[in-house]
Amino acid sequence: MFALVALAGLLPPAAFVAISWFQTVQQMNTLMARYASAVADRADQIFGTAESTLAGMSQTLPTRCSDETSQALRRTVFESIYFQEATLVVDGAVVCSSNSTGKSQQAITYRENRLVPDRGIHISAPVRLARERMVSIVIHYRAGDNAMFGLHLNPLLLGDPVRKYAAEDQITLAIERDDGTLLSQFGLIGDLPISQLPGNRLVVQGKRYPIRVTAVGSPAWLLHNWQQNALIFASLGLITSALLFLLLLYLWRHQLSGGGNVQDALADGQFHVYYQPMIDAATGACVGAESLLRWHHPQLGTVMPGTFIASAEQSGFIVTLTKWLMRRIVKDLATLLKENPGFHVSLNLSPQHFADPKLLADIKQIFGQKVAPTQIVFEVTEHELIMNEDNRALEVLKNMRALGARIAIDDFGSGYSSLKYLSQFPFDYLKIDKAFIDAIGTESITAGLVDTIVQIANQLKLKTVAEGVETPEQLSYLRRLKVDFVQGWLLSKALPADQFRTFVAANKSYLLGAGTSVDPRHA
Ligand code: C2E
Ligand code: CA
Ligand code: CA
Repeated sequence: MFALVALAGLLPPAAFVAISWFQTVQQMNTLMARYASAVADRADQIFGTAESTLAGMSQTLPTRCSDETSQALRRTVFESIYFQEATLVVDGAVVCSSNSTGKSQQAITYRENRLVPDRGIHISAPVRLARERMVSIVIHYRAGDNAMFGLHLNPLLLGDPVRKYAAEDQITLAIERDDGTLLSQFGLIGDLPISQLPGNRLVVQGKRYPIRVTAVGSPAWLLHNWQQNALIFASLGLITSALLFLLLLYLWRHQLSGGGNVQDALADGQFHVYYQPMIDAATGACVGAESLLRWHHPQLGTVMPGTFIASAEQSGFIVTLTKWLMRRIVKDLATLLKENPGFHVSLNLSPQHFADPKLLADIKQIFGQKVAPTQIVFEVTEHELIMNEDNRALEVLKNMRALGARIAIDDFGSGYSSLKYLSQFPFDYLKIDKAFIDAIGTESITAGLVDTIVQIANQLKLKTVAEGVETPEQLSYLRRLKVDFVQGWLLSKALPADQFRTFVAANKSYLLGAGTSVDPRHA
């Protein structure tokens, strides 16, 4: 479970980083497919236009380069947005062109352009013409008289209108004939031919003509976009982590504090009792202790009662737990209590105890002859008393007192109608809630209430205990108020039994002298 909670923190960010990578690759593939299809469609369309234009020329033009022929060629170029030049080729030489009026014949040097098949069109490899101009030539062969008609076009035209955007998206596009001859390359153009470019690649085939369009996405783009996506996804991952973590923590704690788990832990010896010294405020001697449960979890370390008591109460297991605690007190402190008859040890009760018909019998049986009942103090809060409206609590407390045990009202002032309970129930001690001790010396409105509580307790002849004393100022204030006992970290935290016995031995007559310093060994 511990590993699971830790995993909950790590897994979502890792998963989201991986997801963001696939997402980015997916984004790039979609873009590449869009560009490549647009270019393939565009090329199909241009070559289609070329084919029909050439078919028209082939049907109407003679092999002789008359003025009409020249004019017809010029008109062809003029009427089209694609073509830069139209030519008539006879016996392997250009005899007529839309761009020149002269009759000079120019032989065709590209071998493949001289051996054009007699059906459809031939798309030539780019040809370098005068002034470094590269053109693609689309050629139609007329079998009857060995004439050919050509249309020149700028290869870059095939990439319009996506060329600019592809460059922005760092995608390189190449149009090739099916035999691998490059017709045009654009987008993010580097020095490398498309076949050698690194990155994701995708190929779209021309629908009408034997061409293909290859798109290659740049790794830099992928990385950059991944970083951006990862940022968004990482935040999502962190939120998921936090939620998952909290959920698991909740479940874990629940499981941790569930009855079954606590039972196993008790059987496994993971529970311990710690004793927090209770000091006589006037003399500084240690005169008692409050027993507090600690759970030493094998993975978690010390688990405090706040985590498990409530569930142990809900499941009713608290009754078993308290019985065990009482036995532990006998084991740990029977000798000490015998040797110090004025010493007392307190333990906390829960509402469930008042519904337990065997409580008194258990107390008698466990403490029996080993510990005098007068040395035991049961701490109850107003909460417990309220939970037992039917006077059961009152009856149980009276019986406890009849046994000789003492009763303390715990966390006094934190509850509801305190005075009502004070007069109705047979209390011996009043433990002033830590909140009032915290307020001492502050501007808070509760600051003065500690005086009132002590006065009430005195009137009702209850011994006062101030809990949660943390500062020397609080201690001297409480001593001035003549509070009977003090308990808190200033004097000592709760200690394991052996350390507690040592503390008692050292503080039997230890006086809270000047400066109210505490023995540093136990601070
Ligand atoms: P509580 O009965 O009010 O116990 C006093 C709590 O205050 C203890 O916390 C104690 O360690 C802590 N404390 C003592 N001095 C100081 C101080 O100077 N400063 C601060 N900040 N805290 C101080 P702990 O041991 O965590 O117990 C918490 C609560 O759990 C107890 O409150 C009690 O209600 C319950 N609990 C503990 N052990 C048992 C038990 O055996 N049975 C039952 N039913 N409840 C228990
Ligand atoms: Ca208590
Ligand atoms: Ca308390």
